[in-house]
Amino acid sequence: MLKIDNLHVKLEEEDKQILKGLSLEVPAGQVHAIMGPNGSGKSTLSYVLSGRDGYEVTEGAASLDGHDLLEMEPEARAAAGLFLAFQYPVEIPGVGNMTFLRTAMNAQRKARGEEELSSGAFLKLVRARAAELKIDADMLKRPVNVGFSGGEKKRNEILQMAMLEPRMCIMDETDSGLDVDAMRLVADGVNALRSPDRAFLIITHYQRLLNHIQPDVVHILSEGRIIKTGGPDLALRVEEEGYGDLLAEAG
Ligand code: ADP
Ligand code: MG
Ligand code: MG
Repeated sequence: MLKIDNLHVKLEEEDKQILKGLSLEVPAGQVHAIMGPNGSGKSTLSYVLSGRDGYEVTEGAASLDGHDLLEMEPEARAAAGLFLAFQYPVEIPGVGNMTFLRTAMNAQRKARGEEELSSGAFLKLVRARAAELKIDADMLKRPVNVGFSGGEKKRNEILQMAMLEPRMCIMDETDSGLDVDAMRLVADGVNALRSPDRAFLIITHYQRLLNHIQPDVVHILSEGRIIKTGGPDLALRVEEEGYGDLLAEAG
């Protein structure tokens, strides 16, 4: 599903190479975690995959279901089924949450050559999903994320995922700064959305989220490269030992 091959990325502004040959494959149905020390390039990877400005790919490739992601506009990436959740979800003053969701869904459907959802069908769907996630009607009407608590923003992010039904979800440190309840909520949301034709890439500095979301594969990123890949036990090792020994072993 997601295939990243020998990706090299530098900052456009400075002559600074951040990703230095990152390769990774996430097959459908799997949950992969990327862990790594601060500054190793985790966020850069998610920004580049989302199509954010300011980064230049100098070598390598990234594709989703065989489609070259790096050639696509951010909207086209979303339509192809890519969903990114960031540490700080964006606030959109003046745009109601439901309007935002409906616009995003219809843009995605249009790009796929599907018909728009009628407002009745949309309302029915959003109400059902919101109820499952214990999101009240008031939160659906408020401007996107404005004044939402940390937990509410996460709940809203899971709602967006449940509505957009992405193929590939990438979550960048979406757990940092969350209390135990909010983290639980993210984990429950992800676990509920796990399916044979969907994959997740969970980027995290700490192991704790992975206590609740059992990854199939864990990768360790250091200085812009994956230096080790293993099973869930690798995350436990990071928890116990920190990154020091792993980095030393990799040379
Ligand atoms: P991580 O998410 O693993 O902590 P980042 O991808 O945020 O790492 O950053 C990787 C490296 O690139 C760090 O050394 C960081 O300081 C640097 N970096 C990232 N973005 C910028 C930027 N816009 N300007 C300057 N340095 C940056
Ligand atoms: Mg960081
Ligand atoms: Mg980061």
